[in-house]
Amino acid sequence: MTQVHAFETVAIHAGQEPDSSTGAVVVPIYQTSTYQQDGVGVLRGGYEYSRAGNPTRTALEECLAALEGSTYASAFASGLAAEDAVVRAVCAPGDHILIPDDPYGGSLRLFTRVLQRWGLSASPVSLSDLDAVRAAIRPETRLIWCETPTNPLLRVPDIAGLAGVAAEAGALLAVDNTFASPYLQQPLALGADIVVHSTTKYIGGHSDVVGGAAIVRDAELAEHIQFHQYAAGAIAGPFDAWLTLRGLKTLGVRMDRHCDNAERIAAALDAHSAVSQVLYPGLPSHPGHEIARKQMRRFGGMISFRLAGGEQAALDLCAGTRIFTLAESLGGVESLIEHPARMTHASAAGTALEVPADLVRISVGIENADDLITDLIGALG
Ligand SMILES: *Cc1c(COP(=O)(O)O)cnc(C)c1O
Repeated sequence: MTQVHAFETVAIHAGQEPDSSTGAVVVPIYQTSTYQQDGVGVLRGGYEYSRAGNPTRTALEECLAALEGSTYASAFASGLAAEDAVVRAVCAPGDHILIPDDPYGGSLRLFTRVLQRWGLSASPVSLSDLDAVRAAIRPETRLIWCETPTNPLLRVPDIAGLAGVAAEAGALLAVDNTFASPYLQQPLALGADIVVHSTTKYIGGHSDVVGGAAIVRDAELAEHIQFHQYAAGAIAGPFDAWLTLRGLKTLGVRMDRHCDNAERIAAALDAHSAVSQVLYPGLPSHPGHEIARKQMRRFGGMISFRLAGGEQAALDLCAGTRIFTLAESLGGVESLIEHPARMTHASAAGTALEVPADLVRISVGIENADDLITDLIGALG
């Protein structure tokens, strides 16, 4: 597409021209590992082997790049595979990276237990405090790794501020944009160098596929990431790419409903006496509200809240809902509820990353808002 279109139009058309030979309106699942050559080394469509490239994956990559306002995207087998490729493409053994003091647990495990053995050092810092970030920079700091909003406390670091600190230090800024999705937040436009996604979450949107992506502005950096994708091989398969692309088409519509529902539920929880605190960037009382207003279109579908009745009340609520399903993960059409201290963040127990035992996290789906509120308030007793 040569003209610049709005998000919803790009989501449905970028990388997805009707098939030139058959007219198929939907990009086919090119379930093939290899491609016939017209002569030795003469490729008909530019493809030779599906680890290097596959047309279904290309369609997804072009669409993701366009939605993040870029040209370069690589689709991976999972969000963590994308993160691994990004860090290895940007850093060398001996380099240092700054990571959030409240990171996604899987990212922390990758940075410390896998990449540390490769020679990387990672130090946690409060990314909401730009002076602390500046002070934590070392001569060998190559990358600042940011998530926003964070999981499960929904803190909101300032992407443009962090981009400034990274640039001063000669480092790059990577933003994990999984919780916001490109519909709500576009980190490259705010100065970030790299965006990563777990496309498993809002982008896929239907809890039926695991995938990841890395999107960058710089052609040379894109080449490094593509080389790692090809050389290490953690690619998105054709069917997974197709499912993700199908989800992506409705991202804008879904996100608006996630946000509508979450805003109403956050208000209902905030007014309930069994709830001692609601963590939702859309509430004016939230410490990250002003930054969220500046860098996000709306405030997302994730809410965490603390219960006045402590841990037992949190466990009872998680066991007591009927529409909200007790499960890890997030970002699908169905509403989920979980207890971070015993589920997604259980491995942080006893560390500085431990989360409160009275905390409940919900991923608000796109069911009817009244039904969701009745379910949640009913289970609160
Ligand atoms: C789920 C998640 C990941 C990891 O993605 P996978 O697809 O599970 O590998 C990374 N970051 C965030 C914020 C996530 O929620």
